[in-house]
Order: sequence, then structure tokens, then C-alpha cells
Amino acid sequence: MVEMRKPIQVSEAVRLVMENVHMMGTEAIALEHTYGRILAEPIIAKHDVPSFDRSPYDGFAVRAEDTVGASGDNRIPFTVIGEIGAGHVADRGIGSREAYRIMTGAPIPDNADAVVMLEQTTEGKDSFTLRKPFSQGENISFKGEDAKEGERLIEAGAFIHPGTIALLATFGYAKVNVAKRPIAGILSTGTELLDVSEELAPGKIRNSNGPMIAAQLTRMGIGYTSYGMQVDDLDTCTEVVEKALAETDLLITTGGVSVGDYDYLPAIYERLGAKALFNKVAMRPGSVTTVAVLGNKLLFGLSGNPSACFTGFELLTRPAILGMQGAITPYMPRMTVKLGEDFAKPNPFTRFIRAFWETTPAGIVAVPAGFNKSNAVSSIARGNCLIVLPSGTRGYRTGADVDILLLGAEQGIGEWVL
Ligand code: AMP
Ligand code: MG
Repeated sequence: MVEMRKPIQVSEAVRLVMENVHMMGTEAIALEHTYGRILAEPIIAKHDVPSFDRSPYDGFAVRAEDTVGASGDNRIPFTVIGEIGAGHVADRGIGSREAYRIMTGAPIPDNADAVVMLEQTTEGKDSFTLRKPFSQGENISFKGEDAKEGERLIEAGAFIHPGTIALLATFGYAKVNVAKRPIAGILSTGTELLDVSEELAPGKIRNSNGPMIAAQLTRMGIGYTSYGMQVDDLDTCTEVVEKALAETDLLITTGGVSVGDYDYLPAIYERLGAKALFNKVAMRPGSVTTVAVLGNKLLFGLSGNPSACFTGFELLTRPAILGMQGAITPYMPRMTVKLGEDFAKPNPFTRFIRAFWETTPAGIVAVPAGFNKSNAVSSIARGNCLIVLPSGTRGYRTGADVDILLLGAEQGIGEWVL
């Protein structure tokens, strides 16, 4: 008998998965290895930035009061008493009509309160003249103008990108507390599967999901153990799933979650005592996507159909992996764009269409990336986003406003809003 499955909304599926996420611990690692990690502590300014008043230009440090009244007809002369290169400090403060030659990044000497850009002077040997007045503070980068000591600049749970690394380095974080990364297990099920280097044979196909999932994980910087391909056999598959669960932090299987005679994943979950959170989601592709929990581990039963597998990973597995690291922005960034092609047929399920977005004279347009059934593989290769067409009784016309989810973005967003 075919078990009846009751579809839940995608938002509900995402919520259930995220509710069952268990955080990995934290570890302190060297700054140079932090790219792509999730911060386990906020970045708090350890000192003002800049930490001293400094010159943003190459020029002369002067006292603004000495420049009062300067004009083309009344050039005011200054004596240059020395030079301050970046990394050096002046020997003494400046007096009336005195100036230091100063380089970008060098500290402003005592008494000086303006910097005259080189181009604004007429230079003599150890002197120059000015033909315009400068106000107090003109051309100075002030201590603390970028960040004040004690200021909370970045929250724990933020993704560490090159800019974050610059900030960490600024404050001398040689070691950074980050979330530990989970190790994922990947298992491709299907008696029809061949390895990439095997010749096609009647009824067989090459395993494209395994390598694809591996790359989806790699794109997130997540390590994995591959449990290869398993024929559809309940006993051996159960053994491999059990082993994989013991060795990894989450398990991603592909195939075997439909309602065919050889779709054993539901039975495997049952045997192992894993609790299915859902086994049908109101989305296309990927309606059979099943997620189960055993202890504090999530088991993602992704569809064998490549587009469904891909989409299931991006919508559910990816935020879960980020959630395991305490990420505050685990969801794909979203943009509203113009639909580039008709989707006239209404659908009771939310559709996620592999598509390509680009800027055109008509604005940002997303065009479906070709053959778009759940078994499609070519459109995954072409797409750079997923168009979201909410379920409903109407179709969608070219030019309609639609949401797209961006693939491969470094930083996500904090809320699932669809
Ligand atoms: P299943 O989810 O096992 O019912 O498989 C659904 C469809 O996806 C079938 O046509 C399978 O042959 C195909 N399929 C299953 N696993 C893979 C895989 N690893 N790579 C490519 N196609 C697959
Ligand atoms: Mg199968």
C-alpha cells in the first residue's frame, strides 16, 4: 500500500529543520584560516580606529589659524620644519606659520589642525605659500571616526569574509573564536548508478548527485565523507546509513525517498528509530524531500532527481549547516526582478525554477535556464539563481515581478521570508 503523504509548506519545512539544528562547538583558529567561517564571538573595537589623528593625504600639516585671510592676492608663506612619513611621529609641535611635510597615514603633529593637500600649495624649497584659508579639522582623519573603542561592530554568527578579516586584523585578533564546522556524509542510492568514469550501460545513469552535493558543500567550505553509491537494498543501505551517522554530523542521501518499490529511505529511518520531520513539501521540484532526526543529527533525504536534489540542498540543507554554526544569516539572499518568460500554468505547489538573472535595459530580468523538470540537469548547470513562483491558481506572465534566490552568495540573509 502506498502511504499517503501530506505536503507541508516550504516555510514550514525550513522552520522544522532549523528547529532541529544542533550547534557545533567553537574553536579558536588563526586569523589566516578564518575565511568562510562563522564568528563565535562579536567583534568589539579594542581601540579607536584610527587610533590617532592622521593625514588622509600627502601634503602639509598646518595650524588653521595661520591660514586666515589667505587668498590669491594675499599668499601666506609657511616654513617647512620637517617631514613625517607614515609610521613616524614628529619631533615637536608646530608654531606660528610652521608646517610639516606629511604623508598619507602619518600622525598629525601637535598644534596642527589642518592638512593642506600638496596640489593646493605653491612649493618652494623649505617653504610654500597658500592662497586659501583652511578650517580647523580640514583634511584630517580623526581618531575614532571609523570605530570607537568598545563599540560592538560585528555580531557573533556573522559570516567571515575578507572585510571581516580586515577588521579582525585591525584589532589584533591573531586567533579568532569561530564555530566548528560539521562534517557531512554523502550517500547516493540507486541500483542504476554508475561512477563518473564508467561506460553507460542499458538502464544505467552516471551518479551526478554525489559530485554535485560534494561541490555544494565545498562551496560552503564544508568537509564531507563520501559513502559512495549503494544499490537499492534495505539491509546494506541501512548498514551504510548507520555507519555514516556514527562518523559524521549530518547525512545527506540522494534517491530512495519516492514511493516506488525500491525507495527504502523511509524504511531505513524507521529501522534506525529516526523521526521524520516531514516527507512531503509543497514545492516543485523536490516534493518528496524528506528530513529526519536521530539524536542530534539531521538526515536529509533528498530526491534522486538532480534538480530536486540541488534545490532541496540549497533550501533546506544549506541553512541547516549554517545554523549548526550559529550563523545569523543562513538563508539565500533574495531579490525582486522581472520574469523573463511566461509561466502560464498555475501550480498548487511553490515552484523553484533554475534561472539566470542579469541586468538588461528593462531592469533585472531572470530567465528560466532551459528544461526545468525535476529530473533536469542541464538547467542546474546554466542557472545562477532560483526563481520562486508561489503556489496559486494563476500563472505568471513575462514582466511579472518575481522573487529570485541568489545561488553561491557568500553572505545570506537572516530570515526566511517566502
Ligand atoms: P529516486 O529519488 O531514487 O526515485 O530517483 C529519482 C530519479 O533520479 C530517478 O530517475 C533516478 O534514476 C535519478 N537519480 C537517482 N539518483 C541519482 C543520482 N545520484 N544521480 C543522478 N540521477 C539520479
Ligand atoms: Mg532510486
